[in-house]
Amino acid sequence: MSAEPTKILLDENEIPERWYNVAADLPSPLPPPLGPDGKPVGPDALAAIFPPALIEQEVSTERWIAIPEAVREVYRLWRPTPLYRARRLEQALGTPARIYYKYEGVSPAGSHKPNTAVAQAWYNREAGIRRLTTETGAGQWGSALALAGQLFGLDVRVYMVRVSYEQKPFRRSMIQTWGAEVLPSPTDLTEAGRRVRAEDPDSPGSLGIAISEAVEEAASREDTNYALGSVLNHVLLHQTVIGLEAKRQLEKVGEYPDMVFAPCGGGSNFGGIAFPFYADKAAGREVRLVAVEPESCPTLTRGRYAYDYGDTVGLTPLLPMYTLGHDFVPPGIHAGGLRYHGDAPLVCHLYREGLLEAVAVPQVATFEAGVLFARTEGIIPAPESNHAIRAMVDEALRCRERGEPKVLLFNLSGHGHFDMAAYDRYFNGELEDFAYPEEAIEAALARLPQVAAG
Ligand SMILES: *Cc1c(COP(=O)(O)O)cnc(C)c1O
Repeated sequence: MSAEPTKILLDENEIPERWYNVAADLPSPLPPPLGPDGKPVGPDALAAIFPPALIEQEVSTERWIAIPEAVREVYRLWRPTPLYRARRLEQALGTPARIYYKYEGVSPAGSHKPNTAVAQAWYNREAGIRRLTTETGAGQWGSALALAGQLFGLDVRVYMVRVSYEQKPFRRSMIQTWGAEVLPSPTDLTEAGRRVRAEDPDSPGSLGIAISEAVEEAASREDTNYALGSVLNHVLLHQTVIGLEAKRQLEKVGEYPDMVFAPCGGGSNFGGIAFPFYADKAAGREVRLVAVEPESCPTLTRGRYAYDYGDTVGLTPLLPMYTLGHDFVPPGIHAGGLRYHGDAPLVCHLYREGLLEAVAVPQVATFEAGVLFARTEGIIPAPESNHAIRAMVDEALRCRERGEPKVLLFNLSGHGHFDMAAYDRYFNGELEDFAYPEEAIEAALARLPQVAAG
């Protein structure tokens, strides 16, 4: 037994050379994004804020897309990431299941987000862009893009939701350490920010307002583009390095997963680990792919499939997705991240076709599972990752009851070192479970833009 590895590593040269594009293997075409007039948005409409290469990837149906050598060169700083066999957790659970996890917390920013930040920064620089703007809530995406901008010599401005800017100073300091500018949003530098401040000088800000500011600035400056950290097709494409590596690592020990789990906020790390396995599923192999979301933000499990805005204010094109309504506000009690009102159109499309599964978990149980994981495997997971751990542990316990030696794989999307305040609230008994009320969902869905979805 002891000869079996705990940590399965790949050589630097085994970093994938191509990203996998799931759009090549869909059972039916992905419905296009729509403009305010209800007509499909052409690639041209995106040219003011994205470089041509990323727009091309956004609409591509090529199965494999080459990873530029300059991007692979930066990936070498932390990739390939390790795949672990969770022996101590298996023992603690008394399960016959074999549990593996892919650990994305080894990136400099501590999560999977740099996988796409680096690619986006490079394509923008190649297109002659000198500055990037973006928004950030708690700061994970802002710090990933700051790192990527620094490595490729781009100036980055991060509009950070003001309440997070004040309450979560350490992610802000990381953004500054990597040389980016971080501003509490709403600012008075943009039309959108000034409008909000005129109405409410003490506005705490919101992700929707910060997106509006970042997009407005990028659209109005020739040298500046905008970068988004999840949801879009090209973002999920870049994240497939996770699943491609994991497959190769499992092959090395002669394993193939029965089930793959990942937390699902906008869908990027879930798509990243799951899509390369979906490719096998599309070719007839049996594998179950499970997106795990919070009960307090139950987009896939209780939302409606409809065209909705990507942001709160209604500036973005309409995206075909499961949504809780673009003005959805997660309950204040919610501490675990994954707050987005929608999900990536690619994930939603495959879920609707019955090819992916989704489960919603209550928050106290997610921290319970995260603490068990930390006490057995050592790594303190990001609260987002705890969702996947919870669902995976529940399956491992079912395996114990049924005596099933399933192979379970999950994505440990990041570490929780900057989220210890959320763990504090858990240890102090301040967290409660909160299933989002049906009436609130119904009311928000009644405010959806009136465009029929497929
Ligand atoms: C941002 C983030 C998520 C959720 O975003 P997805 O786009 O759904 O992957 C999950 N885990 C960590 C650690 C994150 O930083």
